[in-house]
Formats: sequence, C-alpha cells, structure tokens
Amino acid sequence: MKNYIMKSLGLLTTAVILLFAAQGCYSQNTSSQKKPAMDSSNNKKNPVYSNTDTNKVVLTDDEWKKMLSPEVYNVARQKGTERPYTSAYEAFKEVGTYYCAVCGNALFRSDTKFESGCGWPSFYQPISKGSIIYAQDNTYGMSRTEVMCGRCKSHLGHVFDDGPPPTGLRYCINGVVLDFKKAQEIEKNYNEQEKKQ
Ligand SMILES: [Zn+2]
Repeated sequence: MKNYIMKSLGLLTTAVILLFAAQGCYSQNTSSQKKPAMDSSNNKKNPVYSNTDTNKVVLTDDEWKKMLSPEVYNVARQKGTERPYTSAYEAFKEVGTYYCAVCGNALFRSDTKFESGCGWPSFYQPISKGSIIYAQDNTYGMSRTEVMCGRCKSHLGHVFDDGPPPTGLRYCINGVVLDFKKAQEIEKNYNEQEKKQ
C-alpha cells in the first residue's frame, strides 16, 4: 500500500512538473510574440534566471535571441564588447553581489572590485571557483583568456594578469551582463525565505 502511494505521488509530481513546463513554454512564446526583444531590464523575467538554482543552462541560439535584449545578446552570446566607460557599474561602489544578468549566477563580490581605469567593471577574484569558466581566445591577433558564466556559458569578458594583490588578476567584465544586488536586499530576501519555511 505504501509503495502504491509513493508511486502515485511520484506520478502526480511528474504530471505537475510537466504541466508547469508546458505552461512555461506557452507563456514564453506568447509574450515574445507580443513584444519581440523589447525587454532591456537585464532579463529578470526570463525563465532561467535564478540567484539560487545552480543547474547548468543550455539553450539554442534562437532561444537566447528571443529571451535577451539585443545589447545583452550581443555581448553574452556573440562575444561582443560594450563601449568602455559606458557601464553604470564601472565606477560603482555599493556593497553587494554581482550576478550574471543572463541567468542570475553569482559571479563577484563588491569587495573584490577595484578601479582599473580600463573602462569596464574590474574584479580581482570571482565569488567561487565554479562561478566562472575560462577559454583561450586568439581573436583580433591577441592571445587572451576569455571568461564565461559557469552556469549559462555567456561571455562576460576577459581576465588579464595585471591586477592587484592578492591574486594579481584583472577580470575585465562587460557591465551589461552584470546584475547587482545590494547586501541589504540579499539579507532581506534570505530572511523572507527563512520565514516561509
Ligand atoms: Zn549566466
């Protein structure tokens, strides 16, 4: 009897998940038909965005194109570079955490940010080892190390070895693919989640 109940529960859960997945797809399609690529609010409404989910995100180029604003798509998925000194995060000094604007993955803490003068937000250390992945980039006749989001593999920028101590590294990141949350907001969200449980 217990087994039967467990099995039924399992099936029910699967059905509910499938139903939600189907609805998610449906609403995503209709909303993108209504307003194609007009969302430039750092993509907080996209279905893969999460500050807590660590599952890898793999989507097709078409899916990314529909979901992201043209500016974010250009940098994140086509390895573009924003113009220097254009990001509000370049000289930004608030205390908090920087997330991937594409998927919400935590990338850098504000206490590892420094003024590099290079025109892009710069950090000397990622928030964790897995938060970022690296690739050799030999484009434009240069030998550079590209950095990508560890969760959704979006292009973020490059890392150079002319940074300050303790790492000596300079993560030069396009501000358009960063999403910032103040420390107090993170604390508030955490406390609210604790209360719910
Ligand atoms: Zn990401």
